[in-house]
Amino acid sequence: MYFLKTEESFDAAHFLKGYNGKCKNMHGHRWRVEVEICGEELNKEGQYRGMLVDFSILKRDLKNAVDLLDHKILIEKDVLDLKMLSFLEEEKYEYVKLDDIPTAEHLAKYFYDQLKNKDYNMHFVRIYETPNNCITYAE
Ligand SMILES: [Zn+2]
Repeated sequence: MYFLKTEESFDAAHFLKGYNGKCKNMHGHRWRVEVEICGEELNKEGQYRGMLVDFSILKRDLKNAVDLLDHKILIEKDVLDLKMLSFLEEEKYEYVKLDDIPTAEHLAKYFYDQLKNKDYNMHFVRIYETPNNCITYAE
């Protein structure tokens, strides 16, 4: 089995609605995202002969996924009222509505799903919320 890993980072703000602690307030992180894919078979011919996946292609796809969230406010859908949403829009703050509360756990699954949808044979996604704290998602 071969394992291939790359990583990217992005900056984004979030807050955890309903959480009784500091993270209930909006704050930012430099999120570090590690993606590891795996496979038994290497390409047998063409320019990718002897490779599982070309690093540059995986890096491009991860970068594209990360760029969608970079320097955005990550918001769980339905937690902000219309007044707050229209304030964000009037002020031209850019935000992304996510299906789930924007914990590191859900962000790890978010990136896992984004890349799995591009037909990568996923091993795991690990996301660092701080240099010392990370979450790994695998299926
Ligand atoms: Zn946080």
